[in-house]
Amino acid sequence: MADVIGNGKVVSLAYTLRLDNGEIVDYTEAGEPLEYLHGAENIVPGLEKALEGLKVGDTRDVEVQPEEGYGPYSAEEVEVVERSQFPADLPLTVGLALELYDDEGDSMEAYVREVGDQHVTLDFNHPLAGETLHFAVEVLAIREATEEELDHGHPHGMYDDDEDFDDDEDFEDDDDDEVYFELEMDEDEDNQDGYFPPQSGKKYYN
Ligand SMILES: [Zn+2]
Repeated sequence: MADVIGNGKVVSLAYTLRLDNGEIVDYTEAGEPLEYLHGAENIVPGLEKALEGLKVGDTRDVEVQPEEGYGPYSAEEVEVVERSQFPADLPLTVGLALELYDDEGDSMEAYVREVGDQHVTLDFNHPLAGETLHFAVEVLAIREATEEELDHGHPHGMYDDDEDFDDDEDFEDDDDDEVYFELEMDEDEDNQDGYFPPQSGKKYYN
């Protein structure tokens, strides 16, 4: 019996992701499929659901609403901070991705939405929050996950067995051209203007 997609299967996909306006925001290159572990929340819930039961060679156009994608857009996730809190040499530009840490060491991403003389507007929404996602997918391969993969909650092996993800790390790939800046964030501070204490972060190019 042919393998079908279900929990505990490692699936290789080719896909193109478009927004409502037709803009392509993500796609797999030929020969570099996305591998994910089905049932482990490696991919957005709406897509995972739609792939259940498919077999190798199947293609689908899958529309995913924000609630089953990257979530609705929340205005509360937007913060205005003092520009002086950023290092002078950080090239603050609209769209820049920042990696921030709270006092428990958990990281979160923010994107620069506006840069003014005095203030910088940061957006903690996922860049695709509020978007209806249109995936065109093709199932390229299906195999049983190993015990270790099931234990870790993600696939291994295709690219590099040794380079592993932390268990609590988000399963996201980082674009090469994104600049990350780490700064300490103190949750005890009130959520007003001074949301971020002066940071002593490091800047790195991914
Ligand atoms: Zn692992």
